[in-house]
Amino acid sequence: MSKADTTVVVLGAGPAGLTVANLLHARGVDTVVLDRCTREQLVGRSRAGLLEHRTVELLDRNGLASRLHAEGTVHRGCEFRSAGTSFFTDYSAHYGGTPHWVYPQQEIVTDLLDAYEAAGGTVHYATAVESVRAESGQVVVECADGAVWRADYAAGADGQHGASKHGVPVEAVTEYTMQHEFRWLTLLAHAAPSAEHTVYAQHENGFAGHLLRSDTVTRFHLQIPFGDTIEDWPDERIWTELRTRLAKPGWTLNEGEIFSKNVLEMESRVTEPMRHGRLFLLGDAAHVITPSGGKGMNLAIADAAEFAETVVRHLRSGSEADLDRYSQLRVPDVWKAQEFSHALLHMMHTYYPSDSPDAAFRQKLQQSRLWQLRNSPAYARNFAENYIGPPLDGLPGAEAQL
Ligand SMILES: Cc1cc2nc3c(=O)[nH]c(=O)nc-3n(C[C@H](O)[C@H](O)[C@H](O)COP(=O)(O)OP(=O)(O)OC[C@H]3O[C@@H](n4cnc5c(N)ncnc54)[C@H](O)[C@@H]3O)c2cc1C
Repeated sequence: MSKADTTVVVLGAGPAGLTVANLLHARGVDTVVLDRCTREQLVGRSRAGLLEHRTVELLDRNGLASRLHAEGTVHRGCEFRSAGTSFFTDYSAHYGGTPHWVYPQQEIVTDLLDAYEAAGGTVHYATAVESVRAESGQVVVECADGAVWRADYAAGADGQHGASKHGVPVEAVTEYTMQHEFRWLTLLAHAAPSAEHTVYAQHENGFAGHLLRSDTVTRFHLQIPFGDTIEDWPDERIWTELRTRLAKPGWTLNEGEIFSKNVLEMESRVTEPMRHGRLFLLGDAAHVITPSGGKGMNLAIADAAEFAETVVRHLRSGSEADLDRYSQLRVPDVWKAQEFSHALLHMMHTYYPSDSPDAAFRQKLQQSRLWQLRNSPAYARNFAENYIGPPLDGLPGAEAQL
């Protein structure tokens, strides 16, 4: 059994873990990254694509965004379609001209891995963490290959199903969870985008989403009933349903080979506080959010920035208050994103079965939300702030508690 010491052991080489590793390494803090996947697996996993402005600004400030600027695209608005009508929300205009970005998650992971390794950082690939525990003011991490890492701090950034959250005793935290009443079939197709922006469609058959990934790849989401499996959705049925739900006079859907197809259960979870002793939870390890609104990776990177700042402050001060600060600052931001994601989900989805007593009432509430988004500048500005995300340095007064 080998034994090694480092200041910060980072569990997971996803967006959260790799951002932490880069920021701390650049500030001279000793780090080591462990991930159960190979490098090829890490850079091949397609998930998110929508980047908040603060995410790009953070990567920019740390010299990590040059390829993103060259290959990513700026987005300033999105389109809503419902019951034969459509409107475009110029959310950037509602938020002082601040834009959004589209750049696939696997490209961010590639850039962060390249930067960290080029700077001399170490990633242990194909190294699964089995357990994490607090011991004498340190964190001890045991891996499946027998390696044991002792560190002054651990960044538990190993995602929704990782080991780090099991290192926190259940009585030390409160877990808030929600199973949503909606389900998606989420797809990637070799198809050129059919619009220059994201399209959200509300239809009696269910929600449909068109999201850009690149000039040749488009992501689509289709709301499907509970009980449906991938086998119920052959490609011809998918394209028919996308054409129906996204229909707009004079508009054509670009089709192509579907190369990724998954059923997504909608689950949300928040763990409070996001720290136990020197073990900190980051990203999906701390909170799970529905993909509606594109918030998960952005929250993961915001957690990483705050954690890096916390470590640097604590190394200087040794003050427990500096450790508390991490969760105190991150939790309100996480709930703000949860609230937005939930509201967007309920604004665009169909309540199956449509003959339930309150389905018609809830559908009318949805239409009112869309009507307000189209006609009320105050409503649209709030949407814009949530969609684009808060400023990198936080909303004014963000440190104040309720
Ligand atoms: C279809 C879809 C679309 C999405 N779209 C968006 C979007 O547009 N915008 C957005 O912001 N978010 C989006 N998300 C969410 C986003 O992908 C996640 O929130 C994000 O990946 C979280 O990053 P993370 O670093 O916390 O965790 P992860 O990306 O899950 O990384 C965790 C890492 O830990 C490793 N790991 C796990 N267990 C262990 C272990 N035991 N030992 C060692 N390593 C381990 C994993 O291999 C992985 O590399 C989307 C998600 C989905 C599914």
